[in-house]
Amino acid sequence: MMERAERILVTACVEPDGGLSRHTLEAFGAGAALAGALGGAPLDCGLVGADTAGAARRLAALGAERILAAEGAHFAQARYATDAAAIEALARSSAATIVLAPATARLSRVMAGVAHRLEGRIDAHASGLGAEQGRPVLARWYYRKRMEARLEREVRPWVISLDPGIAPAWEGPPGDAPVERVAIPPESLATRTEVVGDHAPEGGTETIRPDARLLFVAGAGWTKAQADGRVRLDEAQSTILEFLRVSGASLGGSKSIVDLGSEGHSVLPFMTHLNQIGQTGQTPRHPLGLATCCHGEEPHAVGWRFIGERRAINLDPNCGWAQGKADILYVADAFVVMAKINELMRR
Ligand SMILES: Cc1cc2nc3c(=O)[nH]c(=O)nc-3n(C[C@H](O)[C@H](O)[C@H](O)COP(=O)(O)OP(=O)(O)OC[C@H]3O[C@@H](n4cnc5c(N)ncnc54)[C@H](O)[C@@H]3O)c2cc1C
Repeated sequence: MMERAERILVTACVEPDGGLSRHTLEAFGAGAALAGALGGAPLDCGLVGADTAGAARRLAALGAERILAAEGAHFAQARYATDAAAIEALARSSAATIVLAPATARLSRVMAGVAHRLEGRIDAHASGLGAEQGRPVLARWYYRKRMEARLEREVRPWVISLDPGIAPAWEGPPGDAPVERVAIPPESLATRTEVVGDHAPEGGTETIRPDARLLFVAGAGWTKAQADGRVRLDEAQSTILEFLRVSGASLGGSKSIVDLGSEGHSVLPFMTHLNQIGQTGQTPRHPLGLATCCHGEEPHAVGWRFIGERRAINLDPNCGWAQGKADILYVADAFVVMAKINELMRR
């Protein structure tokens, strides 16, 4: 394969408060690391938002040659036409050969269209990024996370969206950072779409906390008849919610507990498919994980591959977690243990 001089652009949307999300800072971290791995390839930042000055200050020490911005009221809200026009203009101004973006909901909508406009190619949801023999290489899951491929491409620009948690978030001192405002063709700003507000899916999102230290997983056992022959859903619900409140943990679920809700059984109303961990769910990256009333079957435990330390509470000493999938298995009643933990944390 041909070796070439690469130029990297990391594009990002500024948050409504003028800051940059953790996922976005990870993309900047990944971009800076790739520039270093390519022997000091030039790096640009491309910011989209109502006001980009604060975000540019935050990135002052990143080592970018240029900080480009598509700035103004048009870019405050997610909207395909304006976001795609903005990022296309930033990429053209940078003349980058590699265009990186965090795979946020907002940018995932537009990056494929941007790649098409630039006559480039896109690979979405990269799970790793690096260089081998001076060439950029990305990693990506296939077949429901059972295989990881390493990809190179000849076509440029190469647009790549990055999944969260694949690189450390960029950290550096803020400073003065000159911003070059890029002109956006006025016809792109004549939009027909008016953004009237946000609608979040019910339940799941406010319990999903990627930045939490602990992932707390609830399995279907919480909804099953217990030793006294009773199903104790109300108690399960209040125990889990109290633990989430006092600990700030992120909530995960097994496929069984998540599916029960959609099959019409009464379950935990705050548990949605967004919470599902595993082969057909999420693969989060919390430093600690605690599974409760969850068997630890392989299709579930595979979603724990990036959890730093894994613990589980299960009544069954022969459950899946005991087969080398957890660092510590507490053979105990999770109703009792979690009530005790809540009591201790309340104190
Ligand atoms: C193709 C495919 C993809 C799949 N993808 C996923 C996936 O992405 N995610 C996923 O989770 N699953 C997935 N599954 C399903 C997976 O194989 C399991 O069926 C599922 O994880 C089981 O969920 P569970 O452990 O919550 O329920 P169960 O298997 O019913 O286990 C409940 C556990 O709770 C324990 N328990 C009950 N009461 C208590 C108590 N008081 N205290 C402590 N422990 C208690 C029991 O001992 C039991 O071990 C997939 C399966 C297939 C075939």
